[in-house]
Amino acid sequence: MTQLIRSVDLSSALYVVATPIGNLRDITLRALDTLTAVDVIYAEDTRQTRRLLDAYGIKTTLRTYHDHNGAQMRPVIIEALEKGERLALVSDAGTPLISDPGFKLVRDVREAGFDVIPIPGPSALTAALSAGGLPTDTFTFAGFLPVKTGQRLERLKSFADQKTTLVLYESGNRLDDTVAAIIEVFGAETELVMARELTKMFETIIHSEAGAFLSQLQEDGPPKGEIVLMVSLTGEGQVEVSEEDIDAYLIDRMANLGAKGAAAEASKKFDRPKRELYARAVSLQHKARGDNG
Ligand code: SAM
Repeated sequence: MTQLIRSVDLSSALYVVATPIGNLRDITLRALDTLTAVDVIYAEDTRQTRRLLDAYGIKTTLRTYHDHNGAQMRPVIIEALEKGERLALVSDAGTPLISDPGFKLVRDVREAGFDVIPIPGPSALTAALSAGGLPTDTFTFAGFLPVKTGQRLERLKSFADQKTTLVLYESGNRLDDTVAAIIEVFGAETELVMARELTKMFETIIHSEAGAFLSQLQEDGPPKGEIVLMVSLTGEGQVEVSEEDIDAYLIDRMANLGAKGAAAEASKKFDRPKRELYARAVSLQHKARGDNG
């Protein structure tokens, strides 16, 4: 019978090792060999990685490498490589550097003349694409969109001319805002796939049009767990916003925010001057009251 973990003689290098995105059995034999053989594993969160190592009886020393200590740790890591040590980099889940720390470390280690060796394996990005059913010949990975509404819309608009499957990482409580932004930029008929909790007990993959998906989401409340959202972009640019759409938005928002607040929000949303929209909101208010001028 083949031995599960083999004792391997590794050369000095930084090994970038992919780890599971949920199911602990999604780890390659080579990843286990490497994590066993290296002198030190640098992990985002040592408690999280310890659980994985314990599951396979791996006792290698763990140290932290994350965004907050990266600047301090990079020279330490390069010094260890100068001494001939074998080091691994892992993140909490999936492939390091994919919306996870490590880019600056890999760049610095390579620039210092040391080898960086990938140990490939799971990533939520490839798992979602492989089972989502949207085209995969051209895809664009945009990671997490900006949290601020205006910046999020701008980022989405920057993809409007591309015919591609846009892949986003998202959390349950921001999903409705993101889908609303997708509808605003690309239209309610945009085809999307949500892949949630991949490789875990509540794995769910839903294929829908953006408008129908948002209505269901508003009914069900925010989904729990980790999410990859894939959006099929046609490359036909942004949807045109009609004057009626703007009026409907102003009327809806004025109920809570008044004319000034609604105009401010609409100005960001539709990229129109606030003053113009305020005048329009006030005139809509007058119309609603039946004023004649
Ligand atoms: N490096 C990781 C990779 O290779 O996928 C991604 C790390 S990023 C900080 C975490 C995000 O990845 C989550 O917020 C979610 O969007 C996505 N993700 C991670 N695990 C997932 C899973 N099991 N199912 C769906 N999405 C997941």
